[in-house]
Amino acid sequence: MKSKIVLLGPPGSGKGTQGEKLSEEMGYVRLSTGDMLREAVRNGAELGMKAKGYMDSGALVPNDLIIDLMKEKISTLEPGTGVIFDGFPRTVEQADALGEQIEIDLALNLDVADCELVERLTKRRSCPECHCVFHLTHNKPRQEGVCDKCGSPLYQRDDDCDETVCNRLEVYRKNTLPLIDYYERKGILVTVEGTGKMDEIFAKVKEAVR
Ligand code: ADP
Ligand code: ZN
Repeated sequence: MKSKIVLLGPPGSGKGTQGEKLSEEMGYVRLSTGDMLREAVRNGAELGMKAKGYMDSGALVPNDLIIDLMKEKISTLEPGTGVIFDGFPRTVEQADALGEQIEIDLALNLDVADCELVERLTKRRSCPECHCVFHLTHNKPRQEGVCDKCGSPLYQRDDDCDETVCNRLEVYRKNTLPLIDYYERKGILVTVEGTGKMDEIFAKVKEAVR
């Protein structure tokens, strides 16, 4: 069983959804840099103030900030716990830093076409409390504007607007796409087709972990 997992794939490819399901199923810890950063913004923490401008424009937050944040989180993990990294690493420098701390045994790449990504992101609605995500047409919440799981009001992320989404996809291609080769060369890359029914995708994800 693989237990040190990196999720790869463009914004909107379903890393959060699949990562959350996997963490529940396997009892692994899910570490999402995006969730951590948004929480820091909401709490008015120093990290949030430093990161917000980058996030709103769709740019990457500087490597040193992210690497320090993740080092701290990793150091709090119980030895032997399974862990799923979502949204990290996003650059080769981050991947190198991660590799110095933990031996990753699976890089799971969710593959989704660009046109589908834009549609998913701009119609996405997120829960600020439990990080559940919904879609205005494909995955509607039972009650409009309310999280199925925890009842909190849903919101649209500042960076899920049309202009920023295109920029995020470009930033992904330039900085993060090279990680597919990076992990391929290490022999731990598995690519899963990320379009189709959520449960079918999850079945393939679980197969990759086994
Ligand atoms: P998505 O995968 O949907 O684009 P995330 O929630 O993972 O969204 O990230 C949102 C934003 O947070 C990114 O656009 C970026 O500004 C910042 N961010 C998250 N993780 C990282 C990272 N590992 N390195 C740099 N910036 C990051
Ligand atoms: Zn919720």
